Amino acid sequence: MAFAEQLIAWYETNKRDLPWRNIRNPYFIWLSEVILQQTRVQQGLPYYLRFVETYPTVRALAAAEEKDVLRLWQGLGYYSRARNLLHTALLVVNEHQAEFPTTYKQLKKLKGIGDYTAAAIASFAFDEKVAVVDGNVFRVLARVFGVEDDISQAKSKKVFKEIAERELPNDKVAVYNQAIMEFGALYCKPVSPDCPNCIFLQTCVAAKTNRQTVLPVKNKKTIVKKRYFYYLLFEFEQKLLMHLRGEGDIWQGLYDFVLIEKNQQLLTPATEIIATAQTTQTEEIESEQATVEESHQEVANEKITEIGNEEVSNEEVSKEEIATENQPNAIANLIYPIFEQLNQQDLANFTGKLPIATPTDEKGLYLLRESPTYVHQLTHQTIYVQFWYLAVQNETLAQQLKTATQADFYTLPQVHDLPKPILIENFLKEIFGKLV
Ligand code: SF4
Repeated sequence: MAFAEQLIAWYETNKRDLPWRNIRNPYFIWLSEVILQQTRVQQGLPYYLRFVETYPTVRALAAAEEKDVLRLWQGLGYYSRARNLLHTALLVVNEHQAEFPTTYKQLKKLKGIGDYTAAAIASFAFDEKVAVVDGNVFRVLARVFGVEDDISQAKSKKVFKEIAERELPNDKVAVYNQAIMEFGALYCKPVSPDCPNCIFLQTCVAAKTNRQTVLPVKNKKTIVKKRYFYYLLFEFEQKLLMHLRGEGDIWQGLYDFVLIEKNQQLLTPATEIIATAQTTQTEEIESEQATVEESHQEVANEKITEIGNEEVSNEEVSKEEIATENQPNAIANLIYPIFEQLNQQDLANFTGKLPIATPTDEKGLYLLRESPTYVHQLTHQTIYVQFWYLAVQNETLAQQLKTATQADFYTLPQVHDLPKPILIENFLKEIFGKLV
């Protein structure tokens, strides 16, 4: 039996029942494919359902505000995907009368839709004979056919694409494309593939030569960078000072607190893991990383991590993070002395009410809590985080803080509605419980 026939027969009896299966709506297919990039199926499923319910059409999504889309995306990581979703939805509505193009070539021309997503939409929704090549496909093809091209090299994408196209059946293209990805996710997994029960055991090159751990070849290793975040959460009259993150780093468009970033850990060693939004131990995540690295034209997931990796976490950069062009010394003059004062004291896990002096001599600043150091693990970054929760009981000082940081005070219900990194959300829940 041919490779495709075997796969399709396996798929018909082994596929998982998922809501994006057996649908022809290109909008829903696109949504599911973007959500599942860098994401496990079980993690992405509730997000897909929420998006379909909140934005049932591409017009509805295009009419949304970015902060609402980011809020719905919160916790899924790689937030550039959410921003790109909105961007592409606007393109589809404004330039294509809210109808997705119907061919692979046309779809690829849409900014934000890369090779993999275009092939998925074209084949699943419109039965076009075009092969999808994601990380699962790389893995299955590399092992079954003994392909040794390095999948971290862009030129290898062409090799795998050609093999995938060669194996495409004349009909049931959509089923075949879904089958090979499902097979890679369930059987031919990155670690511990289920070879003894595999339909390809007799013919698979990797199994016959015992090279399952070698194939696919991937020589480029992920570099994980360490960063050290020190957050100051200011509260004034039950409002919190929240800072909108700008371009050029992780979490663009999300809200956090006043941040000081250092190039080394200052205080207590890491004690707790609070969030691992983008862990890498599943086949879906691993597979999509490969896809993105190869294509360099999928959604900008990789870009955001590259930016993160290139960013030098030195003190000067950190000051720039929250300083403004008009007030370059504002952070240095007001926030840094407060931070240094907190930093110099041995306050690990402090709770209480400790007066803190301010450089403007305004009274009414109190430390209520200092957190232990947490570890927030992202795919390309390990972030060590510590929080200080401070009460401001002086209106002049509150205004000075707001001006210096160009942040705003928000009520708790408003904070609830803002898109936030998961580590910020978790700390707020620690302090305020269900209010946020
Ligand atoms: S025999 Fe093992 S390595 Fe080969 S395709 Fe099957 S699960 Fe993958």
